Formats: sequence, structure tokens, C-alpha cells
Amino acid sequence: SSLSRFSITPPPRFSLPSFSIRAMTSHIVGYPRIGPKRELKFALESFWEGKSSAEELKQVAADLRFSIWKQMAEVGIKYIPSNTFSYYDHVLDTTAMLGAVPPRYGWNGGEIGFDVYFSMARGNASVPAMEMTKWFDTNYHYIVPELGPDVKFSYASHKAVEEYKEAKALGLDTVPVLIGPLSYLLLSKPAKGVDKSFSLLSLVEKIVPIYKEVVAELKAAGATWIQFDEPSLVLDLEALQLQTFTNAYSELESSFSGVNILIETYFADVPIQTYKALTSLKNVAGFGFDLVRGTRTLNFLKSGFPSDKYLFAGVVDGRNIWANDLAASLCILQVLEGIVGKDKVVVSTSCSLLHTAVDLVNETKLDKEIKSWLAFAAQKVVEVNALARALVGQKDQAFFASNATSHASRRSSPRVRNENVQRAVVALKDSDHRRATSVSARLAAQQKKLNLPILPTTTIGSFPQTIGLRKVRREYKAKKITEYDYVNAMKEEISKVVKLQEELGFDVLVHGEPERNDMVEYFAQSMTRRPMKGMLTGPVTILNWSFVRNDQNRHETCYQIALAIRDEVEDLERAGINIIQIDEAALREGLPLRKSEQPFYLEWAVQSFRITNCGVKNTTQIHTHMCYSNFNDIINAIINMDADVITIENSRSDEKLLSVFHEGVKYEAGIGPGVYDIHSPRIPSTEELADRINKMLAVLDNRVLWINPDCGLKTRKYSEVEPALRNMVAAAKLIRTQL
Ligand code: GLN
Ligand code: ZN
Repeated sequence: SSLSRFSITPPPRFSLPSFSIRAMTSHIVGYPRIGPKRELKFALESFWEGKSSAEELKQVAADLRFSIWKQMAEVGIKYIPSNTFSYYDHVLDTTAMLGAVPPRYGWNGGEIGFDVYFSMARGNASVPAMEMTKWFDTNYHYIVPELGPDVKFSYASHKAVEEYKEAKALGLDTVPVLIGPLSYLLLSKPAKGVDKSFSLLSLVEKIVPIYKEVVAELKAAGATWIQFDEPSLVLDLEALQLQTFTNAYSELESSFSGVNILIETYFADVPIQTYKALTSLKNVAGFGFDLVRGTRTLNFLKSGFPSDKYLFAGVVDGRNIWANDLAASLCILQVLEGIVGKDKVVVSTSCSLLHTAVDLVNETKLDKEIKSWLAFAAQKVVEVNALARALVGQKDQAFFASNATSHASRRSSPRVRNENVQRAVVALKDSDHRRATSVSARLAAQQKKLNLPILPTTTIGSFPQTIGLRKVRREYKAKKITEYDYVNAMKEEISKVVKLQEELGFDVLVHGEPERNDMVEYFAQSMTRRPMKGMLTGPVTILNWSFVRNDQNRHETCYQIALAIRDEVEDLERAGINIIQIDEAALREGLPLRKSEQPFYLEWAVQSFRITNCGVKNTTQIHTHMCYSNFNDIINAIINMDADVITIENSRSDEKLLSVFHEGVKYEAGIGPGVYDIHSPRIPSTEELADRINKMLAVLDNRVLWINPDCGLKTRKYSEVEPALRNMVAAAKLIRTQL
């Protein structure tokens, strides 16, 4: 390894490029923490399994931070972030910083350590994990803070300062990054049992003093800049929320003297009112905007930007893998300079690079032409620097020229254009996304054929990925075993999974998805035997979980994918499959952050889903599955998807989902709100599961309710899955006898 393990032998201080180069104003919002070869993931898993020590885990983390800082410093980035590393997620880190640990985790003060931290994240033998949800419209998850009027906030994790000092010891003055107080509160939820009249925003006066302590300590450690991430500013804020933001930062202002404060926004434009409030803040040195997703920001800037502030211009996309169009970005940057003044523009990424792949260098097998179209996090750092240099007249002509060549090759390449596909999308008619009969008529026809008991039991698709399975896949990929052997191994696994489900007494079986280590690996593979659900991934999820081409509209790409999935659905039906599940795990997460953009998205997303299955027979039952998050705001869109059965994440969000049925929404299709959380190793008892089912029956008709876990089981072990599923089937059978 090229990294020295510096807790043992301290690494040399970096030899940095000469001052004139580092003086270019370049900034990175945040960086992936997982490591180029997923080092952090493996270290965490090994630690959680008790196979390695806390010290070993800390060492892997320190090595990763070291290599990231080193790379950015060597490239010449001026504002290098710190505290963007996390063992789990940066919202949970903030919860730890503020000492907002829910009482059930038994924390009694002091610096928060791995035990309390990971218990909140993953649960432990006696307490389930906290709720997890998606970070804005990304596929990245965070642990939702639970707050109430009684939380005693205290400065309980000094991670931000420790990371700052760690970099300092290496010779780097980094920019520590904190999630700002407004975003933290808006990402939180009221703790269970808290009075309805309680307002999360009222906690701002309790958390601001902790932020002040952190700022003071960072200043004392030598920090010259501090970055506050306030992505919530891009939402349609209510007046009170915006007021809370302004109040919080006016209150913090006194601690801002002697340090430069950057307030960073991303993922969309900030609304104009917010823009005005934000840029009116006095003791702040700079503001960061996402100029990739934020298409109106340029106009806002033209209408006014304070003359004494820095503009951190996010022109390099942190959410995709495509090489930046450097010439186009440079034009924008020059326009910006014209607006806010020379030396006031800092070239930056649109958001944290957390959302892109780590390093193209590792893609050794990738086709050369395609590779030239791409840029991952490490390459984006280079792009930011190249733009910053070009802006001050130090343009690297060769780098810009090769970038222009690869853009031209991508634009004209036949590899990204297929006229047949384009024609098929243009030819889509209204009847191409409507099933001919109503859901109740279809369910009746399906029941005749399937003859399922009341409260049918099923799973979401995947079964544990065992060590054996991973080995077979690895060997097949490395061409150590033949395709024949590989297929046989898969068939064997499927038959094991099928036998297990029969033994457990399941009503609708799955094949267990052994052929893919992740549902994004093969979007369209299927099995064609036994009374099983055929598994496919839906077009919206494929879109939302892919690095999508950025040279045509997203909805056009989605329709194109939908037509391909339709072919798969029809193949499955022809092969005699009566139940087909089309997963749309990510439909909700793609919902645009700004309300004005949501109706259009939901329209094309729902249509895309319907295109995939509008042509099947009445007797073919279409299932869909959705993951995480709050669906209540899009319940009408979900009904509009017109699936016959929907299984949905629920167990980790405190049955929020069910409240919508309390409110009287009529739902005639089958529905399986997950009865247990597959993200936790905890095994729920039959009584607990029966209790959950009864809660569901209080709001849902027993003819529509399905019993299933809340997501696929691929990340669990058989030792957890078997007893949990056994209890689940037992609970369903028990309730059946009571109906
Ligand atoms: N069918 C997939 C599985 O079971 C669904 C995964 C998901 O919803 N994320 O793994
Ligand atoms: Zn799921």
C-alpha cells in the first residue's frame, strides 16, 4: 500500500505544490468516504462481526482520510473539506455532536463512542435502530434524529475538531464541514410520544449554543474557514422556517468573528426569497450554490450579490459520472466573475462528491472511448482545479483540448443513439399505459387462478447472499469456473431457497435473486419455475439509481427503459409466470425537492411504470415494491400506478404509512406494509409481529392485506432470516384463525 499507517509511523507532512498554484480558488464540498475499493464498508462489517478491533477500524478510517486529503492537496485544491468522513452518516454524526441520543440507548454522558453510535444506527440485541431515510432526493441514507422538548443537548462528539487537527498535523488547513442548525432540525422528527403542539424549530435556541462551542473550538484549533451545509435552503420553506434560519445565524454571528464562514446549499436552486435572506447575512464570508441542478441561480445572482462576499460556484456535477464540459463551465465562471467581481469566484462542485463513484483509475477494463467521457470523484477534483486555474489565466490547453475531443466523440457516437428506440417512444399512445380493467376486477380474476389464503405471506425477492454464493460469482467472473457450473450453482441455490420457503409455509414464493449481488447489478434477470413471483426492477428505479446520461431529458430516458422492461414482462408472462413483481424501490426518492416540479415528475414516473405492464392478462398479478421514506405525500400517485399488489417499507418509519389509511384514503389493491425491519439483525417475536398485523388490520381490510418483511433479505444471514420468517408466517397463521 502506498499509504503509511500513520498512527504507527507518522506520515511526512505533505509536500504541497508551490503557493501560487494553491492560491487558485478551488473548493470541494465533500468527498466519498467509502474508499476506492470499499475499504470502509469491509472494515465496518468486520468490526460489527467482532472480527476486528475498534483500533483497526479507526486505522482504516484514518488511512482513507489521509489519502483523500493527500490527493486534493497534490492536485492543488485550496479549500479542502474535513469532517466529511463518517462511520455511518453525517446526520448521525451531528446527532452525536449535539448529544441528542434517544434515552433508550442508555447513554450517560461523556464523549459518544462506537457502542452508542452504532446502536443508534443499527440497533442492538435489545433496542431497534433509529429510523433511516433518504438524504433529499438521493439514494444516500441517513439516520433521522428524534427530538423533543426534553432533549438535553450537550457537546458530545468532538469529531469535527479531531478531524481538523488530524489534517493540521499533516500540514493542511482544511475547511471543517458541519450540517447547519436549520437543516439539522428540518431533517429531524419529533420523538415518539411528544405532544403534537411541539415544534422542532423551537429547539434552535438550544442547539445554537452547542454550535457556538464547536465553532470556538475549531477557531482555537486554527480553522480559518468553516463550512455550514444548509441544503434545506433549497426547499420551499415556510416563513417561520426561513425566519428560524435567519435567527440562528444572527445568533451564531458573534462566534463568527475571526473565522470565515461559508454557507453551502445544493441539490437545487434556493427560492428567491431564501436567496435574499441568505445573501443578506452579515458575518458570513461566502455562499455556495449548485449551478448544475440550480438553473435559476444565475439570474438571482444577476439581480444582486453582496460585493464583499465570495461566491462558491458549484459547476462540477457531484451527482453523476460524466466528464465536465470544461469550456462551457469556464464560460459560466467568466460570466459569474463579471457579476460578483474578479477574485470573488471560487470554483466548486455542485454538491458533495459523495454521490459519485470514487476513482476512474480503478476501471481498468473499461472501454477507452467510454472512459474518456467519464469523471469520478478523483477526476472531478482535477476538473475543479483546472477550471480554477483557467479562470486566472493559467489554462491547461492540452487538458481542455482533450476534454473537448471526448465531448465531441460522445455527441456523435452511435453507441448512445438508437433510432428504433427513439421511434418507439414517439409512437407511445395513451392506451399504452392503462390496463383495460379495474383493479378489483383483476384481483377477482387472479384469485380464481391463484387461490391464495387470506393474509397471504411473501417476501420481497432476495434471500441472503451467502459466502458460498459470493465465492461462486467471484470465480465465475474470474473465469475460474464455467458458465455451466455457475448456472448449476445458481439453480441449486434457488432450489434450496424454494424448499426453505415451502418448509416455512409461504404462500407466494420468490427465487431469492442469487444471481445478483445487488438489485442494480442485473436489472432484468428472472426465473421461470414454480409458483413464484418473477422479479424485475422498474424503469423509474433504474433511472434514479443510475448515473443517467445528461444529454437528453430524464423522462425520455425513463420511457425508453420502460419499453425495454415491457418486453421482459411479456416474456415472463409467456413463460407461464402468474405473478410479476416490478420493483420501484426508488420512485419516491426521485421526487423533485421543489413542489413546482413534482407534478410533472410524478406524471411521467407513474406512466413509465404503467407502460411496463399495461399489456398483461387480467389474471397476471402485478406486484410492485417500494422502499423507505414517507409516501403519504404521493399516495395518489401510488394508487395511480395501478399495481395489483404493493409491498412497501413501513416498519422503520413508525407506521407513518398507515396513518394515511386512518385518514380514509381508499385503497382497493393488495398492500403489504412490511411487518419487520430487515435492516436490523434483531429477530422479531411472533407476538410482536401479530401485534403489528393487528394494527394494520385496524385500518386495512383483511382482503387486501399481505404479510411480508419490509425489504429484500440479501444483506441478512440465514441465522437471522429463518427464525424471523418462521415467526412471521406463524403470526399470519395465528391471525387468520382469529378472523
Ligand atoms: N427485489 C429486491 C430485493 O429483494 C428489492 C430490493 C429493494 O427494494 N431495494 O432485494
Ligand atoms: Zn425495498
